[in-house]
Order: sequence, then structure tokens, then C-alpha cells
Amino acid sequence: MVKICCIGAGYVGGPTMAVIAVKCPAIEVVVVDISKPRIDAWNSDTLPIYEPGLDEVVKACRGKNLFFSTDVEKHVAEADIIFVSVNTPTKTRGLGAGKAADLTYWESAARMIADVSKSDKIVVEKSTVPVKTAEAIEKILTHNSKGINYQILSNPEFLAEGTAIDDLFKPDRVLIGGRETPEGRKAVQALKEVYANWVPEENIITTNLWSAELSKLAANAFLAQRISSVNAMSALCEATGANVSEVSYAIGKDSRIGPKFLNASVGFGGSCFQKDILNLVYICECNGLPEVANYWKQVIKINDYQKSRFVNRVVSSMFNTVSGKKVAVLGFAFKKDTGDTRETPAIDVCKGLLGDKAQVSIYDPQVTEDQIQRDLAMNKFDWDHPMHLQPTSPSSVKQELDYQKIFNNMQKPAFVFDGRNVVNADKLREIGFIVYSIGKPLDA
Ligand code: NAD
Repeated sequence: MVKICCIGAGYVGGPTMAVIAVKCPAIEVVVVDISKPRIDAWNSDTLPIYEPGLDEVVKACRGKNLFFSTDVEKHVAEADIIFVSVNTPTKTRGLGAGKAADLTYWESAARMIADVSKSDKIVVEKSTVPVKTAEAIEKILTHNSKGINYQILSNPEFLAEGTAIDDLFKPDRVLIGGRETPEGRKAVQALKEVYANWVPEENIITTNLWSAELSKLAANAFLAQRISSVNAMSALCEATGANVSEVSYAIGKDSRIGPKFLNASVGFGGSCFQKDILNLVYICECNGLPEVANYWKQVIKINDYQKSRFVNRVVSSMFNTVSGKKVAVLGFAFKKDTGDTRETPAIDVCKGLLGDKAQVSIYDPQVTEDQIQRDLAMNKFDWDHPMHLQPTSPSSVKQELDYQKIFNNMQKPAFVFDGRNVVNADKLREIGFIVYSIGKPLDA
């Protein structure tokens, strides 16, 4: 029986391994992590992350061919294929701080693999890493190899949080990069055979290592760039009377552009887009390409601009101050169908409102009060003014809001600021609200 071990039981390691286990009953999959609370949660009825469909997949194979464990070394030693899916955040200090990827977790995982391995291994980069990371990993492993053969593969993950299980069941593509040597090709083939259990062959792409590593950064940069492009357009729409939804629809009908990822919003968030673009910027700078670096930097600048533009609109609409005014923030995670709040634009929005001394209440059915406290504390808030966190209640997850009742209880004029263009603005205006929808004229 082929044994797979995945180091890192996070948003990527957990769901990807659960899907491999459910699709490959003949493979034993063990997901390991140094975090005991995380592993305990994976072994409990309340999984550590929320993803539609994840509970069912985990329950179908946990204890059969899917296991979660803190015994990292034992399972790494026993595995034939080791996925490394540890976090690769932006460096906060030292060389490249604020841009480069922090590979501390990766390096310690690689050193541990070298320490405990007694048989040949295929080591798979599942984390998003800078191009050429495989070279560094190879050095660490081969200099400590004790005669063991290591093959490094790059197999970046393209799942999107909120649709992770669907994305994993039906991936647009699976990308595998390897060395162009006989051993490298053999390793690529072995990983291909795992995915071939459910992914059509034409959707499995094989490339050289550097193309695979760079493709992940490139994919995230292109996706984020699309959001920043439409958000930049939303500012122009507001200035001219155009409606960004109409513009998006019109341009998305062009088959060269396509309709996806063209919704204007308060900005992108999540743990990946910003960090991966910063990483790309750093790689460009290190390779003597400052003009290319500046091009990608602009994607982040527009995202920051969009968030502050939104806050400024709220404050200026409410007669230039929100001091002492009650503001309810609905939704805190970085997008729908996830409880992940990493880099959520809601943090910047709340920060802006609190900075002007608003009384902020926050509600998100997937996010706990502790999590919000932690996120806002991490972002160094001034806690002098009141802040209300609404307790979460699973029963209210899909509940419709009674806007008439809300309106009746509000001080007038009553405002709704829609940072995702999800409310029915016409209906709310009929009730009497003043509605601001991002990228749209005030009466649209
Ligand atoms: P995460 O923080 O949720 O999970 C990483 C896990 O690795 C943590 O639980 C941590 O305890 C564990 N870990 C760290 N060092 C370890 C070690 N030495 N041994 C054992 N466990 C260790 O991160 P994530 O969101 O799953 O992302 C993981 C990687 O995948 C990142 O590189 C990210 O950029 C990439 N990625 C993320 C997404 C996403 O949507 N979250 C999508 C595609 C790719």
C-alpha cells in the first residue's frame, strides 16, 4: 500500500488529503501537524476549518485510510510520498522583510525529513513557494541524505477557500513539476498515478520544476490583478455615473476576457493574494527586474486604495464623522463560505471606522468572537472606544435580514454601504435607506 504523509494540517493540507483519501481507498494518508489543537479538531466532530462538503468527505474516510496525527516524525519516516503544506507567510524581519516568503517552516520540515528518513522519498511542494525553492530543499536533503534518494516535485494547490472540495474533486488542472532526469520523471509519474484515480489525464499538466513553482505565483497574481482592474474601474464608474456591474457584464461578454472574477468589491483578502504578489515583487527585484516588480506592486496599491476609498465613502456620507455613531459590520471573513479572516478587508474597514470613533458591531456566522478579537488586536487597535461583537449562532447562518424592522430602529437618514454589491439596493431604497453600492451611481 502506498503511504502518503502530509506535513501541515491547515486549509490546504486537510482538505487536499481528505480528497486524496476518499478518491484513493488503496492509499493510506496521514496528515501531521505540530499543532495539537488543530489535530485534535481534525479528529473531532468540529473540524478546525469550515468548507462546504468537507465534513462529509472527512467522515467518509477518517479512521479507514485517512488519519490525523501529531506524531510527525513516525509518519514522515514511514511515508513513500511526503507532501509539505506548511505556511509560507511574508517575512516580517531581516532580508526581504515585508515582501519575501518566510521559509522557516519549510526549512525545518525539510531538515526533519532528512533526520528521520530511512528509505527513498518523493517530497512534494504543496505550499506556495518562491521559484527555485526546490533547489534549496534539494540541497538540504541531499547534504544530509545518508544515501537516501530524494526526488522533489512541485505540485502547487489551486483550490479556492469556500469551494475547496468542489475544486479538489474537479480541478481545472493538476500541475506537477519535476526534474528532467530519469528519477525525476519516475517521481512525476508516481504522483500522476495518485491523481489519475479521479482527474482526467488531459487535466494533469507536467512541467519542469521552476515552471510549476512560478505558475502558482503567476496564477494568484493574475487573479488579484483582475480584481484590482475591476476595482480601479469601479472608482471611475462612481466618478462618471457609469455602473460597474453593467461595465463588467459588457466586457465579460468578450470571449477573450470572459465573465469570471469581474465583481467589484471592497478589495481582495485572504492569506494568499497579497503575500504571493509581494513574493513575486521580491523575486523580480532580486532578478534585476524593477519595472516588472512595480507593475505587480500596483495591484496591491489599488487594493489598499479600494479599502480606504470605501471607508472614506462611509465617513463622508455620514456628514464627515462616524464618531459615536452605531455601525453594524455584516460579514468579517475574507469572502463567503469560509471562516478564514486572514487579511480580510473587513479588518481595514473596521480599523478605519474605529479610528473615527464609531461604535462598531461585527457579525459573521462563521467567525468566532475570539477570532475577531485576535484579528483586531493583532492589527493594533486603539481600544478606548466601545466595540461590540455579536455572538455567533449557527441557526442564523442563512437567515434573511428584516430590513424594514432594521430601518424602523435606525436613526435617520439610515445608510447601507454595500462593499460586495450583494444587497437588493432598489428594495432598500423603497424602504427609505440611502444605499451606496460600490462602483454604482447613488440611484442605481
Ligand atoms: P495554514 O496556516 O492553515 O496551515 C499550515 C499548517 O502547517 C499549520 O497548521 C502549522 O501548524 C503547520 N506546520 C508548520 N510547520 C510545521 C512543521 N514543521 N511540522 C508540522 N506542521 C507544521 O496554511 P494554509 O492556508 O493551509 O496554507 C499552506 C500553504 O498552501 C501556504 O504556502 C499557502 O500559500 C498555500 N496555499 C493556500 C491556499 C489557501 O486557500 N489557504 C490555497 C493554495 C495554496
